[in-house]
Amino acid sequence: MALVLVVGAGFSGSVAARELADAGHRVVVAERRGHVGGNAYDERDQAGVLVHRYGPHIFHTNAARVWEYLSQFTAWRPYEHRVLASVDGQLLPLPINRTTINRLYGWQLTEAGVARHLRRVAVPRAELRTSEDVVLSRVGPDLAERFFRGYTRKQWSRDLSELGPGVAGRIPVRTTEEDRYFTDRWQAMPANGYAALFHRLLNHPRIELRLGTEGLVAPERGQAAAVVYTGPLDAYFDYRLGRLPYRSIRFAHEHLPGVAQLQPVATINYPGPEPFTRVTEFKHLTGQVHPGTSIVREYPTDVGDPYYPVPSPASNHLANQYRALAAREHGVVFLGRLAQYRYLNMDQAVAAALQASDRLRADLGARGGCASPDAPAGSTATTDPASPRPRRPSPG
Ligand SMILES: Cc1cc2nc3c(=O)[nH]c(=O)nc-3n(C[C@H](O)[C@H](O)[C@H](O)COP(=O)(O)OP(=O)(O)OC[C@H]3O[C@@H](n4cnc5c(N)ncnc54)[C@H](O)[C@@H]3O)c2cc1C
Repeated sequence: MALVLVVGAGFSGSVAARELADAGHRVVVAERRGHVGGNAYDERDQAGVLVHRYGPHIFHTNAARVWEYLSQFTAWRPYEHRVLASVDGQLLPLPINRTTINRLYGWQLTEAGVARHLRRVAVPRAELRTSEDVVLSRVGPDLAERFFRGYTRKQWSRDLSELGPGVAGRIPVRTTEEDRYFTDRWQAMPANGYAALFHRLLNHPRIELRLGTEGLVAPERGQAAAVVYTGPLDAYFDYRLGRLPYRSIRFAHEHLPGVAQLQPVATINYPGPEPFTRVTEFKHLTGQVHPGTSIVREYPTDVGDPYYPVPSPASNHLANQYRALAAREHGVVFLGRLAQYRYLNMDQAVAAALQASDRLRADLGARGGCASPDAPAGSTATTDPASPRPRRPSPG
């Protein structure tokens, strides 16, 4: 049996911890916050409404392995996310679709008509170097101004033209009436919330969870056969090459007593002059029945917890320099949104943690640690992310 230190109890750290504990290793999880779950953490507010402390987290995935894995630790509530944008006094579907365009301009275009309109207004770009190139080449200047430029400036404190193509590239444009924000095969919310899912994930006799604990100074750091580090990449190296830029958010939570429902969908985006980017009403996500309702407004800021890596050439360059240092750290796996300095959805974080755990189990096994109960001693654990693991019985 090897000792593994896991720094951080978000999806990345918790999944790795569980996988390694199931493989027979002893795992210490050090989490500096007073709770598990990382940014997916949820809790009841003072009125008893289940809210997401760090902003709305909607689960969606196309990865069967991720869906089956998490289903061992939670039941699900079917939920498909819908978003409206508040534009010129109207609430219009986002991503932009046929309804958005017809209602915005007072038209009655067919799908083909919408496609023709978009082709007419699109500004062709030989090369898509920035998010502005992406948006203009898809929807033209008018929709770019109304839906994207103001929102992006609030979210990133940068103009569309200063951001790489990936930021706007994530948002589709549709000619149909499809109004679901995501189209993944599996879309659902954990039936009892994320915190409950995490408690089941980490509830294992070989996992010792230490909340309120700095991971990098844990006494186990020197003794562990491996460290799984899920904190910020630059912090691990004491910022020796400078700080990686992050965008943060101030979450302003509010309970509205006696208001059964504030808005028609879970999230409304505000691309206009309001100082916040979006408002989310949690009861839509959870289905909770309560006489009042709870919402969160998001105010992007440069100060505070690191949430979003800033996608610019300068930050990528610095991140690559840190990644080169990380590659030379033997016995340390850099995993997750912060340690990889890459925006990851929850399912991507889980998939990466499962793959990294496969490799680490094989590596620890080869180094003479105990063999995985899933594999006889001396055999190599699979590293193929597509290959399904045997389903364990649901924990009690
Ligand atoms: C506002 C917002 C909304 C989001 N919405 C969605 C969504 O709708 N759907 C979706 O799929 N994804 C969403 N995400 C992404 C999701 O939050 C991430 O995929 C997920 O949090 C990644 O998990 P992680 O474990 O890599 O990182 P985190 O959740 O950040 O966990 C890292 C943990 O490590 C701890 N830590 C860091 N350094 C140390 C240290 N030195 N010692 C001890 N502990 C340490 C931190 O306290 C934290 O708890 C959203 C993210 C944000 C910011």
